[in-house]
Amino acid sequence: MEKRQLLYEGKAKKVYATDDESLCVVAYKDDATAGNGAKRGSIAGKGAVNNRVTNHLMRLLEQNGVPTHFVRQLSERESLVKKVDIVPLEVIVRNIAAGSLAQRLGVPEGTRLAAPVLEHCYKNDALGDPMVNEYHILAMGWAVREELDTIAQYAFRVNEVLAEVLRGAGIQLVDFKLEFGRTAEGKILLADEISGDTCRFWDEATGEKLDKDRFRRDMGGEEDAYREVLHRLLGA
Ligand code: ADP
Ligand code: UDP
Repeated sequence: MEKRQLLYEGKAKKVYATDDESLCVVAYKDDATAGNGAKRGSIAGKGAVNNRVTNHLMRLLEQNGVPTHFVRQLSERESLVKKVDIVPLEVIVRNIAAGSLAQRLGVPEGTRLAAPVLEHCYKNDALGDPMVNEYHILAMGWAVREELDTIAQYAFRVNEVLAEVLRGAGIQLVDFKLEFGRTAEGKILLADEISGDTCRFWDEATGEKLDKDRFRRDMGGEEDAYREVLHRLLGA
């Protein structure tokens, strides 16, 4: 599959067109940002780890009823995916209070939620990805009712499937962010990535953080944390 012009360069990935207009190539970078771009740096080996972890989890989700954009891995850092129009939402699912939810509700990080919580943020860096509800989304035309219902159903299914596979690897799935998109035919697919950049992973036994919070909070050890998750999930 020939990689053509750069369509978009984001904070963690580049997206390229291919000679098939229904497909694109994503290339994962080691660059890391936090606090909406306020902190910048890089995590050695992150791009390759996130490529492999994302593809592994997307394949598993596909087998468990969640349609995804994943087609195949092309190289250490690159994958072929179905091109979609991204719904401009960060779809967040939470099992345990952490980060902005713990702050907003004034509960300690680590508080178990009695039921999973679904949140939506408007994907807009200039506005700092503000939280919105379904009324905002419908009013702004970012998605229609049926799409929102499909997205919610897929998001909770992703939570069930991922929580189970991670539990098997001794990892608690605290929370995560998903992105969805529409194909040219209007079908909703899970897109973007699922990795330590977009999920909170805590070691089940020790509570140790195995995700981007190590970078966000200047804790150090982020390279090892990303590699550890890869190792536990893929034995690599
Ligand atoms: P950001 O835009 O937040 O800096 P990235 O650096 O991860 O994020 O850039 C990847 C971009 O590619 C994101 O804007 C994401 O929405 C988009 N994207 C992910 N999957 C697809 C896909 N299958 N088709 C088109 N765009 C995609
Ligand atoms: N998240 C993400 N991208 C964002 C914001 C959040 O991938 O732009 C993920 C984050 O890794 C965590 C979940 O979404 O797994 C919830 O994040 P939260 O709202 O607590 O935000 P944060 O504390 O990271 O600001």
